[in-house]
Amino acid sequence: MHMDLETNLSIIQRQIATACENAQRDPSEVTLLAVSKGHKIDRVHEASELGLNCFGENKIQEAKLKIPQGPRNAEWHFIGHLQTNKARDAVRLFHMIHGVDSFHLAEALQESCEKQARTARILLEVNVSGEASKHGFSPAEVLEQIENLNDLDRLEIHGFMTMAPWTPEPEKTRPVFRQLNNLRKECEDIMGVPFPVLSMGMSNDFEIAIEEGSTMVRIGTSLFGKRSYAKKKA
Ligand SMILES: *Cc1c(COP(=O)(O)O)cnc(C)c1O
Repeated sequence: MHMDLETNLSIIQRQIATACENAQRDPSEVTLLAVSKGHKIDRVHEASELGLNCFGENKIQEAKLKIPQGPRNAEWHFIGHLQTNKARDAVRLFHMIHGVDSFHLAEALQESCEKQARTARILLEVNVSGEASKHGFSPAEVLEQIENLNDLDRLEIHGFMTMAPWTPEPEKTRPVFRQLNNLRKECEDIMGVPFPVLSMGMSNDFEIAIEEGSTMVRIGTSLFGKRSYAKKKA
């Protein structure tokens, strides 16, 4: 198992390096977020031994069990759809919350932060492709609401996150990633502050995402293999 992980990681790192070379970017600009959802904590420790320290989870219940058992230096990122009634846990458990997909959720996070005397690092999730099945602000909503979102003083908006539609031809995702990068630049112009993080690219399409400016690729399957969704114990 450990061997597989090591091999997978070196393949991914080479792919990241090649994509960076294509785009004349420095590989140090791209963080590999190891998506550990659906995998046991042992796998996280193995990955940690190989030098990875950013992990992604998409369910609060699963994260609550795993994070306390994780490596000490691990940085946990929430990448799922967050319900407002879980805002409290998300703020407590995670280094960064990627899926802030509505003003309502942002307000719930702000309130939780106030109660816990914390701040939260967030990314705004944008539904660039407009697919009905996807969560997120539309690009127009981001432009309308960025100032109000920025007024929520307990939230640090670090940037943006998107999921491209799945396609057997990753090249087709390029316009989605390019649009998110352009939206980021527009928001930087409006607000006069940097939004440095672009969380985009998964196993299927991360090389294209990097060529279009991704600073954080969220990779599960290519790194850890297929997820097993075992039934939860009662
Ligand atoms: C599961 C998940 C990933 C990882 O997907 P893979 O295809 O396994 O690499 C990335 N981002 C989000 C938001 C996810 O839910």
